[in-house]
Amino acid sequence: MKQCEYCAKEISYHEQYCNEECKDNALDFFDKIESKNIIFSVFQIAGIILMIIGFITGVFQAFWGTLISGCAAILLGIVFYILPFGTLEMIKKFKIKKMIKITKLIALGFILFGLIDIALGQFVF
Ligand SMILES: [Zn+2]
Repeated sequence: MKQCEYCAKEISYHEQYCNEECKDNALDFFDKIESKNIIFSVFQIAGIILMIIGFITGVFQAFWGTLISGCAAILLGIVFYILPFGTLEMIKKFKIKKMIKITKLIALGFILFGLIDIALGQFVF
């Protein structure tokens, strides 16, 4: 069965979206990806590099390592929450609406992980 590209509702074979609203939402989403793709990539790479620096620092200095990697996780979480761009495979599998939900949940997980990481670094190690 064919599904709406946005909300994954079942539709007939000659349609792409179940209604105009889904079509508008999907087009808005693809516009956002196109216009924000560079800034999204920059923040994503910065977050990953910062996290690696944090882990390396953590080997020598638990306090600073957890602080840096925690901040990196929070940064990544915020970026993915504001710009919930999942992979093309995720879009294909879940359709856009569900993919945004899943990506935002993962983003909140990153923020939570970052906060716990920082808290552990300050109070435990
Ligand atoms: Zn729909």
